[in-house]
Amino acid sequence: MTLDTELVKISEIGSKFITKLIQLKIKTVRDLLTHFPFRYEDFSKIIPISELVLDQPATVHGVVQKVNLRRTWKKHLTIIEAVIMDETGGVKAVWFNQPYIAQILRPGTRANFAGKLMQSQREIYLSSPAYEVTNSRSLASSSFGPKHTAGLIPIYPETRGLTSKGLRFLIKPILKSLERVEDWLPEEALKENKFPDINVALKKIHFPLKMEEADLAKRRFAFEDLFLLQLNNLKIKSRLAEERAVALKVDEAKVGALIEKLPFILTSSQKESLSEILKDLQRPRPMNRLLQGDVGSGKTVIAAIAAILAAQNDLQAAFLAPTEVLAGQHYRTITKLFNSPMGGLSGGVALFTANAAELSYGDGSQIKISRQKLLKEILDGKVKIVIGTHAIIQKGVRFPKLGLAIVDEQHRFGVEQRAALSQAQGGFLPHFLSMSATPIPRTLSLTIFGDLDVSLITELPAGRKEIITKIVAPENRPKAYDFIREQIKKGRQAFVICPRITPGAVKEGEVLSEAKKKALELKSVTEEFEKLSTKIFPDLKVAMLHGKMKGREKDQIMKDFSGKKYHILVSTSVIEVGVDVPNATIMMVEGADRFGLAQLYQFRGRVGRGEHQSFCLLFTESDSANVQQRLNFLMTAKNGFELAEKDLLVRGPGQFMGESQSGLPDIAMEALRDIELVKAARASAQKIISNDLEMKSYPLLAARFQQFQKRVHLE
Ligand code: ADP
Ligand code: MG
Repeated sequence: MTLDTELVKISEIGSKFITKLIQLKIKTVRDLLTHFPFRYEDFSKIIPISELVLDQPATVHGVVQKVNLRRTWKKHLTIIEAVIMDETGGVKAVWFNQPYIAQILRPGTRANFAGKLMQSQREIYLSSPAYEVTNSRSLASSSFGPKHTAGLIPIYPETRGLTSKGLRFLIKPILKSLERVEDWLPEEALKENKFPDINVALKKIHFPLKMEEADLAKRRFAFEDLFLLQLNNLKIKSRLAEERAVALKVDEAKVGALIEKLPFILTSSQKESLSEILKDLQRPRPMNRLLQGDVGSGKTVIAAIAAILAAQNDLQAAFLAPTEVLAGQHYRTITKLFNSPMGGLSGGVALFTANAAELSYGDGSQIKISRQKLLKEILDGKVKIVIGTHAIIQKGVRFPKLGLAIVDEQHRFGVEQRAALSQAQGGFLPHFLSMSATPIPRTLSLTIFGDLDVSLITELPAGRKEIITKIVAPENRPKAYDFIREQIKKGRQAFVICPRITPGAVKEGEVLSEAKKKALELKSVTEEFEKLSTKIFPDLKVAMLHGKMKGREKDQIMKDFSGKKYHILVSTSVIEVGVDVPNATIMMVEGADRFGLAQLYQFRGRVGRGEHQSFCLLFTESDSANVQQRLNFLMTAKNGFELAEKDLLVRGPGQFMGESQSGLPDIAMEALRDIELVKAARASAQKIISNDLEMKSYPLLAARFQQFQKRVHLE
């Protein structure tokens, strides 16, 4: 029997089992053996019956006193009840729908019983304990090696009708008759990490004697996918290193002059990041870099400088933003810089979104232009920097001399879009810079973005005050409104974020589920806008913004809010990424429990961007301890990275990368919480790739790697 043997071909497995296994997508021995236990119950000691404790798994050894079978006609249940005695006392055991047990556990039989003591309204009993007929009360000397009642008993994810006990029955004999498996993990990787080889690991993950054995085996299997991921990352990296890109000429003096023109001094990590980027750009290899930094850390200006450098080299730069609002904002930032004397370039900077086409020239003049004309100007190479949304990577937009592609908040863009931007032109790939304000835990950035080099902006510009964050109880709502009014009197502005756009609708006669009732209570932008503008702050200027509005309309409102034409902006999460209004000092979030921590963190980052003390007010109707604890993280976390680590622990990696999308098995997803394991996988992969890119001396590994690439599509 090998790992590839189909289970149907194993005569010992009944057809009933096969059907159930197929429901679990388990078809081969490999599938079955990689259906790992998700926990173990510790039955490693036999205890006296008198010491059984409610709800705790334990094993007892005793003699069956009497057995009784009854049927409940209503529910068609067969119930077996047995009384088991040892010298310290007796306990009742109960099984359902297993009538044959009465034949096995006849009175007088000695056996081990492993299970949990449960309490019903009427009685206390061992619930469906696993049993094993044995004369010996000692587990160790039990000659046939108990599968179900001794040591660590594996508990599997179950499907209807396929119990852990059933799986144990299947797996134990298969492990015995399995031929030796050749390990596809290279020996050095096993040695470096002190992992058991696959044969040992398979045995130990199913039937460990000690917890440490199970843990080590699990670690090995978790390592497998992380290792493959890293091989993938490092392969992409070394392939890119063989591609060509136009090496930019960087004139230090010009860069210096540009920086001088800024109305602020760059922070030292901005300078560091910029110099890393400049180094990359001067190489004839495509840069592939992620610029990561907390919200408000000043990534845009770094990217803008890179774009201007590309333009100075007579190349084009495409700057992709996730929303129209942001595209507009970046456009304004860059034109300001570009139009400084330093700009002095021929060619223009354009804004190109689904709803806007604008062009601005080096002399500071700006024109609205038809999309058609703009496309032509881009195609003629007259436009040097194009800032836009998805619109700029759609068909019809062609950059004849794309030297640099910048993508803001790149995890919002799919694989194809990124590929479209990076299309080779005349054998040259553009340099690629992606930016992310979403603090990604280190394990994830090493894995998901493991093919990218990373520049980190670790500090905020000097003088930023810590944002005061408060959870506001429902009864304090009026006080919060008073506070907002006070701030506005001082000249500040406020955001109000709601979890939905319009109030929930109820169809006539609709029966409401709990979830729907909850959803109906959620504050909506339109209702809050109505309430705030007419009842609470009738004397103030209130605007609203949400994703269903036209791009141009949104852009106008954002502009007007920046221009202080409104005091309060009621919005959905469209505000989440990147919006920059330094005069806004209040971020009020309705239904805060409906948002993830990383998202709340992004909201909060919208304020505290100027010189004034800022506040984040979190409203929630939920008083669940869980919600309160989560929101508390937001108040105590020192920075976004710490928060992301916590989010990862609380909500799991699925929140960061769609689980179904990633194609990663649970065990690897779980492992993404473990930085040491991720690093180990990277180190081991690095050794293999640097000696043998095509893995020629590792045929088993190479085959496995190919399968893996088919299975996993990563962003
Ligand atoms: P993010 O990294 O979130 O994209 P931005 O690039 O939008 O942040 O920058 C946030 C704000 O900080 C902007 O108004 C920007 O002009 C300003 N800024 C950037 N760098 C500095 C700096 N070194 N000192 C002061 N303000 C800065
Ligand atoms: Mg930004």
